[in-house]
Amino acid sequence: MIERYDVLLRNGTVVDPASGLHEIRDIALRDGKVAEVAPTIAGEARREHDLAGLVVMPGIVDMHVHLSPFLGGGCGHRMLARAGVTTALDMAGPIEGVVDLTARHGCGLSIACVNYLRPEHTIASADPGRDDIDDALTHALSQGAIGLKLLGGHYPLTADATAHAIEAAAGQGAYLAFHAGTQSAGSNIEGMREACELSAGHPLHLAHINSYCRGQIRDAVSEGEEALALLAAHPHIRSESYLAPFNGVSGECVDGVPGSRLAAFGLERGGYPATSEGMAEAILAGWALVNLEREGVVDLVGGPEGLAAWRACGSNIGISFRANPPEPRLRLVTATRGDGRYAVDALATDGGGIPRNDIVARGLALVHLDALSLEGFVRKASLHPARILGLHDKGHLGIGADADITVLDLERRRPVLTYAHGQRLLDGDDVVGSGGRLITTPMGEAAVRAAGLDTLVIQPGTMLKSPQ
Ligand SMILES: [Zn+2]
Repeated sequence: MIERYDVLLRNGTVVDPASGLHEIRDIALRDGKVAEVAPTIAGEARREHDLAGLVVMPGIVDMHVHLSPFLGGGCGHRMLARAGVTTALDMAGPIEGVVDLTARHGCGLSIACVNYLRPEHTIASADPGRDDIDDALTHALSQGAIGLKLLGGHYPLTADATAHAIEAAAGQGAYLAFHAGTQSAGSNIEGMREACELSAGHPLHLAHINSYCRGQIRDAVSEGEEALALLAAHPHIRSESYLAPFNGVSGECVDGVPGSRLAAFGLERGGYPATSEGMAEAILAGWALVNLEREGVVDLVGGPEGLAAWRACGSNIGISFRANPPEPRLRLVTATRGDGRYAVDALATDGGGIPRNDIVARGLALVHLDALSLEGFVRKASLHPARILGLHDKGHLGIGADADITVLDLERRRPVLTYAHGQRLLDGDDVVGSGGRLITTPMGEAAVRAAGLDTLVIQPGTMLKSPQ
C-alpha cells in the first residue's frame, strides 16, 4: 500500500541540531506534524517540493517582535511571514489588540504575547502596589497573554515595582520579559546590571541585550563584554539580541516633548533638542526615520514624506534611529562560553511591524563569514527560542514535531518556503498563509477561541527554562 502524506519536501539539506542531523533528507508532513524523515521516502503527497540545493530547518521562532496596533501590527504578520518566521513572541501587547490583528491579518503564524505594564494604560501609576500588579497579570493571562512585559526603557516603573512584577510572574509560572530600565537606572548597561539584581533568581527574559551596549556609559565594546559577564553570572536569565542597526521607539510628543526616554536620547545623540520641534527637524533631516505603512508593509521613511506622516498621526507613530553600533551586535550573537554554549540564548529581531525582520538576511551573513555555524544559526533562530517558550514540539524536526519548516537559499540569504502546522505560509516571494494560532495558557484559552483563533496551549511553569 502506498503511504499518503499531505506534503513531501524532497532532497533538501536538513539541518536539525536537536537530532544531530545535517544531511540530505526527504521530509513528509501529515496532519500538521512531521510524519517521516528519511534519505528517500516512497509515497505520495498532495503537494511535493524539490528542495535540492536548499537548506531545510525547523521553523524560525523570533522571540522578540511587535504586532501591536501602535507598532505596525497589521502589517507585521506579512512582514514576519516574508522573513521566514513561523512562530513569534509579541513583546508589548495590548493582548486584545494583538489577538484582534492576528484574527484579521494573520498569515498562519503561531503568536504568543506578553502584555505590557504601562502606567495609565494597564496599571495606574509607575509605582503600582503588589495587588495592582497581580490584577494586571490576571487580566493579561485571562485575555490570552502568556505573561507580562516591563517596558522599563520606555516607560520605567520604580525598582520596587519592577522587582514585584518579576516575583508575581514567577509565582504564577507566567512569562516575564523585561526591557531593562527603571526610575533608578537607565536603559543601558547600568540598567542591565540592575535588572540582573532585581530578578533575584526568578525566571526572566531580558530583552535585546545589544541595546544596553550603545556606548551610553562607557565605550560600546566594553559594555558588550560586561553584558556577557552579567549573563554568565546570572544563569537563570534568558536572553536574545538582534543584528539590525536601527532601534524602534514611539515618536509621540506630549506637551512639546517626546514621551519615550529613548526617543529623547536618540534626538540628543544626533544633536537635536529633545522637543517636538527637534523631532520634526530630525525627521526632515533623515536622522529620525518614521515607521510608515505603505502597500501592506512598514518602511523606514525620513524627509518630507516622513514628516508629513508623523504630523498626520499627531506624532503617535513609530520612529527608528541608527542606535546600535556594530561591534557589540556581532559579538553578542556569536559569543560562546567556555563549554561551547552560546552566551546569549537566541537571535531575535525586535521586528514584526518594525522593519528589521533580518534573522535570515543578517544571520546568514554571519554564517557566510564563518562567525556562526549553520547549526549554531538553527539553534539560535529556532531550537533555543522554542524551548524558552516551552514549545517542545517546535524547534526541531523529529517525528511528531509540529510541521513548522523554514527553507533557506543560503546564497541569496533568503527564505524561499515555509510551513507552519503543515500549512504553507511563504512560497517564493508570495505570502500564501492565512489565519493564526495564539500560544496561550489554559487561563486564556476561552478568550482566544472567542476571537476566532486556534490555540496552542502551554502550561504555566514550563517557560523560561535553559534551552542549552
Ligand atoms: Zn521590542
